Amino acid sequence: MTSLFHPLTKTITQLDLQFCGRVETIAAYLFYDGETAALVETGPASTADTLLESVQAAGVPLEALRQIFVTHIHLDHAGAAGVLARQLPWVRVYVHPIGAPHLADPSKLLASAQRLYGDLMQPLWGTILPVPRENLIVVNEGEEIPVPGSVLRVLETPGHARHHHAYWDTASGLLFTGDIGGVRMPGVQYVRPPTAPPELDLEAWRASLARLRALEATGLCLTHFGLFRGNLAWHWDDLEQRLVAWGEFVRQQLERGADEPAIQRALAARAAAEFANLGVDPSTYDVAISFESVVAGYVRYWKKKS
Ligand SMILES: [Zn+2]
Repeated sequence: MTSLFHPLTKTITQLDLQFCGRVETIAAYLFYDGETAALVETGPASTADTLLESVQAAGVPLEALRQIFVTHIHLDHAGAAGVLARQLPWVRVYVHPIGAPHLADPSKLLASAQRLYGDLMQPLWGTILPVPRENLIVVNEGEEIPVPGSVLRVLETPGHARHHHAYWDTASGLLFTGDIGGVRMPGVQYVRPPTAPPELDLEAWRASLARLRALEATGLCLTHFGLFRGNLAWHWDDLEQRLVAWGEFVRQQLERGADEPAIQRALAARAAAEFANLGVDPSTYDVAISFESVVAGYVRYWKKKS
């Protein structure tokens, strides 16, 4: 049995939500100073029970949980917010101004996810509940919010979605990247750009990367998956070059008249070749962000531009 939690600092613990029964796919991060607790990310509603179990396994009573920060409102990051607000009605959910209305009323979000996931909607993401408006706190770029043991600074970081924040922990120097920091599995020298539709914006993403790079974080806490320390310049470079190279690849395929399924196959083959020398199983990357999503995001982006 792999562990549900992994302490990173005296006050910060990484939680493994074991999405789809797989380890190291979706993380949440827990702050606790012995009195109150905060979460960064909730994961999907389908793993809400695992999330609450892991919080308690880490020695934190649920009554202590007061604050929930979500990097953006996609279902794998904020899907459990409504479930948590129902079970722990005193929690406050901190969210981007553009995302807040969709947590309060997830109907549009669910309709668009339904088109993408169809019958898999329920098994993958669970039952999404609205977050009552009184539980929501809208936060903006530059705000600094006290959390147990530290202060989090809010960083506007569009590109993956318009409603995306990263959170910079001013005490530890750790950066909670959400999806703007890419998808990278523990121990693997490979970063996949999660270029999901419908708001992918390559220029905005690259500007966000320049900004996050300049922070000189002591480590990156990726939602998919885990803490990376060490050579962060390598991480940013690998993400940015692949974000651009895959974009160019999809654009060329579109120019040749390929349809989306054909582009998915071509990109998956390209990715398999990129992976061939790493000696690890790439399938966890596919669970975190599928080629369907990656290609759909790029295709929509290029069609908007043309
Ligand atoms: Zn994600």
